Amino acid sequence: AVPLVVAKSTALSAKNGLLIKNRTAFENSRKITTLVFDKTGTLTYGKFEVTKIVALQEGVSENELLRLAAALEQNSEHPIATGIIQKVKDLSLQVPAAQNFNAITGKGVEATVEGKQVKVVSPGFLKENNISLPGNFRPDAAETTVFVIVDSTPAGYISLADKIRPESADAIRTLHTIGIKSILLTGDNKQVAESVSKQLGIDKYYAEVLPHQKLEKIKEIQGKGEFVAMTGDGVNDAPALAQADIGIAVGSGSDIAAETAAIVLVNSNPRDIANLVMFGKSTYKKMV
Ligand code: ADP
Ligand code: MG
Repeated sequence: AVPLVVAKSTALSAKNGLLIKNRTAFENSRKITTLVFDKTGTLTYGKFEVTKIVALQEGVSENELLRLAAALEQNSEHPIATGIIQKVKDLSLQVPAAQNFNAITGKGVEATVEGKQVKVVSPGFLKENNISLPGNFRPDAAETTVFVIVDSTPAGYISLADKIRPESADAIRTLHTIGIKSILLTGDNKQVAESVSKQLGIDKYYAEVLPHQKLEKIKEIQGKGEFVAMTGDGVNDAPALAQADIGIAVGSGSDIAAETAAIVLVNSNPRDIANLVMFGKSTYKKMV
């Protein structure tokens, strides 16, 4: 039987935006020492809007860049893809079909479009493949930039901006007051990771982390004796959610994240994590 105090708290949790799928996880929430956050879709809304389109090659217009990028992105579910497709719709551009579509995990997408080899990729991908960044490119901490590469040459880039959820700063602050450290784990670039960490008062960040590396990072932090909760929304967060001592999924995220996690933030509000810890503490103190 479920102890009355626990049953009451579970109902209370539901009212406060928490779906507790696993009671042991709830019980353990009072032991959390480190909270690891995914960025996109977790601390931010995960809704990207195109803010800049810059053509770098003679004969390739901004609309042409968008059209080529959209040909690839219509096959992707990444928030960057959604942002690019939205822009193309706003401009009523015709999008060509793409063949041989391939997702380069954590780095971008590639396909053949109208006989050309096209890639839409992160600045990190360019670096790794010794493709020099265009001279006039300045990374902007408030934006995420993807490069459009046509037949091995950077034809231009598209910048997109996401918004931090207004509750995120309060969540981090409250966790700090109850002695819980915060770490940001993101596939996005260093400038963005640093800027978001500074704005939110996050203790530490790891940028350009590939999906399988998210799991390794959790293990590494656990190895230092930390009791780790991980919060994420994406398919790419699922292995890390499973590895963490407590996995917490964002309600607006992917089904796989919600299935893997022990706890779901029904209102997608990171502030509810602090409520979770405080509920856990008060519930199990009463029982002894
Ligand atoms: P996160 O969700 O933490 O940003 P991802 O692993 O999903 O991490 O993505 C990391 C980076 O890979 C993105 O910031 C982007 O540069 C690139 N990327 C991933 N998917 C796409 C896509 N569909 N189109 C363009 N770039 C992408
Ligand atoms: Mg995410």
